[in-house]
Amino acid sequence: MESSFFPDSQAEEASPSKPLVVIMLGPPGAGKGTQATLLQQKLGIPHISTGDILREHVRSETDLGKKAKTFMDKGQLVPDHLILDMLFDRVAQKDCISGFILDGVPRTIAQAEALEAKFCKSNKMLAINHQLSDEEILSRLTNRIVCEKCGTIYHLIYSPSKEKGICDRCRGNLYQREDDKKEVVIRRLQVYHQQTAPVIAYYLKRHLLHQVDCSRSKEQISAEIAALFPKKP
Ligand code: AMP
Repeated sequence: MESSFFPDSQAEEASPSKPLVVIMLGPPGAGKGTQATLLQQKLGIPHISTGDILREHVRSETDLGKKAKTFMDKGQLVPDHLILDMLFDRVAQKDCISGFILDGVPRTIAQAEALEAKFCKSNKMLAINHQLSDEEILSRLTNRIVCEKCGTIYHLIYSPSKEKGICDRCRGNLYQREDDKKEVVIRRLQVYHQQTAPVIAYYLKRHLLHQVDCSRSKEQISAEIAALFPKKP
């Protein structure tokens, strides 16, 4: 039988009347964003990354961006109320009507509780935990560089650009995110273990958690995740 994430009582229809909320959990750098993008293509529902929305605010120098930057540059979490207001605005948009994939949120129990209060009655919620060791995360993130124009991600050792510092796709400049510097990554991992790891236990207790080993290839991981969703929402 195909392994599905839907418990039997809910498997019958996962359903057109109950939009999906898929929650991508796991430490920074485990590949949640990559998998969320692949799942977005399969399910046809938007991928919402709170980190990406915040970085856009920082770039545009909005009030929220200015407030968030002070936390982000230090590898600390942005306060819950700012995240939740921003997220609820985003999911109120039309493209989220059939469901959405959350990446980078919830990161605290307070955020998880707020999501549950808002969505658990009218939506079908599923959480996928991307597991990866701290050692591997440190190596991945500190070697990661990103195109400032199109967001393409490179790894200095495993997937470098053809021309140093220049994006293969759009010729934009490649840069290292402030929060991918080694001391900040170490801080982000500490924050993750202290504040975000309990969120995993929260979904485990509710029987909504599927664990995925992210030390494997991108293709292996995405096949395992895709098998959780036998039907389109
Ligand atoms: P990310 O790209 O998801 O690693 O997010 C980058 C940074 O944005 C994090 O280190 C936090 O400072 C902030 N951030 C993103 N999502 C959240 C969230 N759900 N709660 C608090 N801070 C967040």
